[in-house]
Amino acid sequence: MIYFDYNATAPVIREARQAWLEATEKTGGNPSSMHQFGARAARAMTEAREKLAALIGCHPLDVIWTSGATEANNTVLHHFAHALDAKSEVWISAIEHPCVMESSQHYFGRRARIIPVTREGVIDLDWLTLELADTRPGLVSVMAANNETGVIQPWREAMAICRQYEVPFFCDAVQWIGKLPARGLGECDFLTGAAHKFGGPRGIGFLKVPHRSQFAPLLLGGKQEGGRRAGTENVSTIVAMVTALEIREKQIARNEHILHGVWRDNFERQLLHAVPATTIVGANQPRLWNTVSALMPEGDRKHQWVVKLDKAGFAVSTGSACTTGKEEPSHVLAAMGFKAAQAVRAVRFSGGWETSEPDWDELAKGVAKVHTELHHSKG
Ligand code: PLP
Repeated sequence: MIYFDYNATAPVIREARQAWLEATEKTGGNPSSMHQFGARAARAMTEAREKLAALIGCHPLDVIWTSGATEANNTVLHHFAHALDAKSEVWISAIEHPCVMESSQHYFGRRARIIPVTREGVIDLDWLTLELADTRPGLVSVMAANNETGVIQPWREAMAICRQYEVPFFCDAVQWIGKLPARGLGECDFLTGAAHKFGGPRGIGFLKVPHRSQFAPLLLGGKQEGGRRAGTENVSTIVAMVTALEIREKQIARNEHILHGVWRDNFERQLLHAVPATTIVGANQPRLWNTVSALMPEGDRKHQWVVKLDKAGFAVSTGSACTTGKEEPSHVLAAMGFKAAQAVRAVRFSGGWETSEPDWDELAKGVAKVHTELHHSKG
């Protein structure tokens, strides 16, 4: 079985697993405890905080550990719901992950305005510039790279525009971190990440907030994380997360991802050759080097593709948020102007750092085989 679902979750990097085991053995105490076990755990956590801060470029005290990106993203919206007055708006890009979309709807209702995206899935910077000249929202939220399409967002430009108008800028960098250099992301006022997307364990993530400002925590009942997130920190997973990111950053610094991007591009060419009626979503835009979102030919349904590819030995995904088998139509594809009838044909192939060139080539053969099968079963 070859795994092509890194955007959903990535395999744990060997060194991160090892770091988790060692931290579990050596730092068994509660980091808030005053005895030596607690002090050892607190030291490991401080070290991890400093390393992460250095990688993304922020102050170590800006970093808050969370259970993942869903919690981190909800925490940001919750904070702004408390910090802003009852009339303030938040502006959210149309392609944010559901945990940003739904929490902004929950806290702000109609005061959550949508920043449109182009047909190619990139946020409309002209819209942002024009609207900001007119109105000041309390927050602008633009993700770094989209989880469904892999389309890279102009977050640096959006941040610069927001700075001009002194509007806080929030970036969900979950799909960017570990795939592209993290340096500079720490300049965002609010930033979130999740370990399991870059080779760390599941159930751990982080939030970057300016440490000198007032903050309204989502979780109450403890003074951990400077009173900004109650609950005993999971030191072993924190250590493993930061180890995973260090490894990924080293691999990225060696430009390994550029070669992986060439293999992904070759796969796309083979896919279009074998199944010419396919449309690659966001094809003309800079995209994450690991992702292909493809609308398969008319008449095919994405679930047929996912099931048949699974049988053929390839784990791929439909791309949009799927919980307990109930799938919503993709709001990302809808925002890009695709019709529901097109969105039901979207299949996402997302490889990763452990995906080899032969793996991509095998996938291309698998796709050609499934296409033939579907074609024959229709005929
Ligand atoms: N944000 C983005 C862009 C994501 O892709 C995901 C997960 O797919 C999340 C947030 C939520 O992360 P988690 O499920 O790890 O909390």
